[in-house]
Amino acid sequence: MNFELNDEQRMIYEYGDQVAKTFDQSYWLKKARKSEFPKELWDQVSEDGFMGIMVPEEYGGAGLGMMEMALLMEGLANNGIPLLSMVVGSTMSLPMIADHGSEAMKQKYLPDACAGKTLFCFAITEATAGTNTIRINSIAKQKGDRYYLNGSKTFITSADESDYALVVARTRPHTEVDRKTDGFTLFIVDMKAKGVSMTPLEMGVVLPEQQFQLFFDDVELTEDDVIGTVDKGFDILFESLNPERIVVSTMCTGVGRLALNRAAEYASEREVFNGPIGAYQGLQHPLAQAKTHIEVASLMARQAAWLYDNKKSAGEASSMAKIAAADAGMEAVDAALQCFGGNGFTDDYGLYDMYSMVRLLKTAPINKEMLLNYIAEKSLGMPRSY
Ligand SMILES: Cc1cc2nc3c(=O)[nH]c(=O)nc-3n(C[C@H](O)[C@H](O)[C@H](O)COP(=O)(O)OP(=O)(O)OC[C@H]3O[C@@H](n4cnc5c(N)ncnc54)[C@H](O)[C@@H]3O)c2cc1C
Repeated sequence: MNFELNDEQRMIYEYGDQVAKTFDQSYWLKKARKSEFPKELWDQVSEDGFMGIMVPEEYGGAGLGMMEMALLMEGLANNGIPLLSMVVGSTMSLPMIADHGSEAMKQKYLPDACAGKTLFCFAITEATAGTNTIRINSIAKQKGDRYYLNGSKTFITSADESDYALVVARTRPHTEVDRKTDGFTLFIVDMKAKGVSMTPLEMGVVLPEQQFQLFFDDVELTEDDVIGTVDKGFDILFESLNPERIVVSTMCTGVGRLALNRAAEYASEREVFNGPIGAYQGLQHPLAQAKTHIEVASLMARQAAWLYDNKKSAGEASSMAKIAAADAGMEAVDAALQCFGGNGFTDDYGLYDMYSMVRLLKTAPINKEMLLNYIAEKSLGMPRSY
């Protein structure tokens, strides 16, 4: 078993250190506090060839895998510049088009998306369905060779910046299908199409990417806009969930690591009684404990990425990595905040803002309880609870 990264992987992992020389955490925070899309950072990552990391080279991508995507995201997060828009775009949407789109679709969308010229958002969540995706109501009804999409989505990240949305909609009512996961189709929807509108959501979480409610009013689509097979969208949707969990894990471990490094540095210098506060075990142990949990979660995420790249079942490892990483990320930022005392809550240090992000990732894109349900059922063989 070889845990060493190859030269290319190391370069990708360290890319975050390079790009952070120009776009550092204070850049990210400035954007996040204004809910302003980090266009300059996005353009730089695109120009450096990392936006389409999982897309084959013939369509403008880097032709690499899940491991490299995870390393890239962890490297960015290590520097406090994680991008949620790269989860929905680079990790979920683009590989899905590359793997399941028609040849015409790949030619049409991927080169521009890999170059960062166009953006994709991913629209699954609906207010009334929530975690229970099977209950989504958005429906694309077929009339002749056209589909007409009606319904709404919520919490859609970067919908305002996106040129296209990958939309999961029903194409067949649940009464007409054999399997409850049948009857759903994945469409690429042009955000400028007639009948698409959106309203921003007022969010408390500090992120540069905004969330939106999306509305579809008789949006006209054709078979050419379908990714994969009509009525079988869930099969490919499930495939993209493990990559999402893996990169979200690396965002948590990276942000947690940054918080710990900052705290260790601060506590080693700050003196309030005799000597630095970092000499107290009361501060050291929570940091050391969190560091241990961060590295365990990071390893787990790499294992999950390896499993995914090697076409082995990655559901269990991806779910465990996401649980461990979100918990470890929160633990790390919390322990770091304690070291900073009052300074931890000031804008200058930006620590409290990091907490907001890792805390979000315990709930979204999939909540911890659903992952525990999965592990209880699939790994431990226990009865399904919901
Ligand atoms: C900042 C942000 C960005 C997002 N971006 C996107 C995006 O780009 N695209 C998109 O489609 N969605 C997006 N989402 C939506 C996100 O995926 C959902 O919020 C999430 O899936 C939870 O759904 P919900 O909010 O409806 O919670 P609910 O389904 O109402 O669940 C509430 C809580 O109930 C508990 N719960 C629910 N079901 C069970 C169960 N079976 N067993 C045990 N406990 C359970 C969990 O604790 C859960 O947190 C985003 C959300 C946020 C906050």
